[in-house]
Amino acid sequence: MEKRILIVEDEPKIAALLADYLRMQGGFLTSTVDRGDAVLESFRKEQPDLVLLDLMLPGLDGIEVCKLLRTHSQVPIIMVTARVDEIDRLLGLELGADDYICKPFSPREVVARVKAVLRRSDSPGTGNSQQRLEIDEEKFVAKLNGKDLGLTPVEFALLKTLSNFAGKVFSRDQLMNAMYTDYRVVSDRAVDTHVKNLRKKLARASGDDDLIQSVYGLGYRFGE
Ligand code: CA
Repeated sequence: MEKRILIVEDEPKIAALLADYLRMQGGFLTSTVDRGDAVLESFRKEQPDLVLLDLMLPGLDGIEVCKLLRTHSQVPIIMVTARVDEIDRLLGLELGADDYICKPFSPREVVARVKAVLRRSDSPGTGNSQQRLEIDEEKFVAKLNGKDLGLTPVEFALLKTLSNFAGKVFSRDQLMNAMYTDYRVVSDRAVDTHVKNLRKKLARASGDDDLIQSVYGLGYRFGE
């Protein structure tokens, strides 16, 4: 399987260099975005396996982009800065980036880092906050970190819907439609109760009850 890399870089030469080098390696598909405020849209469209994120960008800087991506996804992020002493500051901000590279870099170094970060994120159980969710639609079994969650059919449908679109906010009405295929009308409270039970089961397996977040006035979303 080819890995998709989203290159966020406003200097066309550097962006092209990175893209060419990754493609020459084989096994990578790349796309490029040159503005910070366009990253989220590209991210949703491309569903990349890793983001190479420049720090200084028009529209929205790399720090804000990193924060924004982290509210939606645990996608591996490598930040690229122009100054070595920036890295300490970035680390202090605890942005949740997976690695940092300083310009000027050799393309070979970048590819090595990309591979290393992808390897780390591929091997289960090594990421600190990485939760591993497996959903078996044929057997109606959902496992988190290898543990069977023991879900009811309604909870299973809820989790499947929410986790298929991680980061997307679902209204209670939408969740109701996902839970019941017979157009049964149930109260908002019933949806809340099912979500509450599902959260409990997830928390038991993850040690972290924030996998499903309530979004005030809107509904719920799944965030890894
Ligand atoms: Ca830049």
